[in-house]
Amino acid sequence: MNVTRAKCAGACYGVQRALNMALDTVSEGSRAVTLGPLIHNPQVVAQLAERGIRAVESPEQAVEGSVIIRSHGVTPQVRREIEARGLPVVDATCPHVARAQKAAAKLARECGHVVVVGEAGHPEVEGLVAYAREAGGEVLVAGREADVPAGLSGKVGVVVQTTQTREAFEEVLAALRDRGVECVVKDTVCLATRERQESAAALAREVDAMIVIGGRNSSNTTRLAEICSLVCGNTHHIERASELDPVWFDQCTEVGITAGASTPEDQIAAVEARIASLG
Ligand code: SF4
Repeated sequence: MNVTRAKCAGACYGVQRALNMALDTVSEGSRAVTLGPLIHNPQVVAQLAERGIRAVESPEQAVEGSVIIRSHGVTPQVRREIEARGLPVVDATCPHVARAQKAAAKLARECGHVVVVGEAGHPEVEGLVAYAREAGGEVLVAGREADVPAGLSGKVGVVVQTTQTREAFEEVLAALRDRGVECVVKDTVCLATRERQESAAALAREVDAMIVIGGRNSSNTTRLAEICSLVCGNTHHIERASELDPVWFDQCTEVGITAGASTPEDQIAAVEARIASLG
């Protein structure tokens, strides 16, 4: 059986950077908390807890050690609440997200109205909305054309959640322009998601079985599994190597592997090794 990994798979730059920063923080025995799980990967979250990094729900629950800001970033209000705790702050906001936050604030100052193209309620989107509001903007979140109300007019700044698809971004932009809105656009889409999706789909078309590794609570991993299932009926979403079922590989000669942006290298390598051991 040949095992091939998708050209682009596993932890993205921002997630890997946040993990490294978190581990560096506790490397000399100190403790740390993250606001919410550092990444959507239960195994990694459990490993981090063993190393002294635990997740809390709110800044008030941070009573000792360092406070790590996740790659999604936080609102300016939450940042101030964290700083008010007087604890060391480790800012692991992905630089792409930080760029989008700055863009949201700048657009709010320049245009007054800002449309954030993204998923309402997602922590990164909440941050973008808060940065724009803090800069005096009126903000609308739109994930699709249907979210764009009639009656918008004049000049509007448009910024995008980094993990949005380009299709969703263009759909919302087209809807705004159809309503006669003048759009000042900051394209803050991050390529990591698209690269993983395109290389997973390309590989899934070529193989007899496709294994997608990552947290079941990770939306980008779940999306990868959906994309692969469309072109390879023998697709399986797993979190760990022990979930592999030899039956999946009956009569398979080519097996493909991919992993979400929150799946670290050791989990991918463990799955590859187990499949190779099945023959
Ligand atoms: S997907 Fe892109 S923006 Fe999000 S953490 Fe990864 S590198 Fe950063």
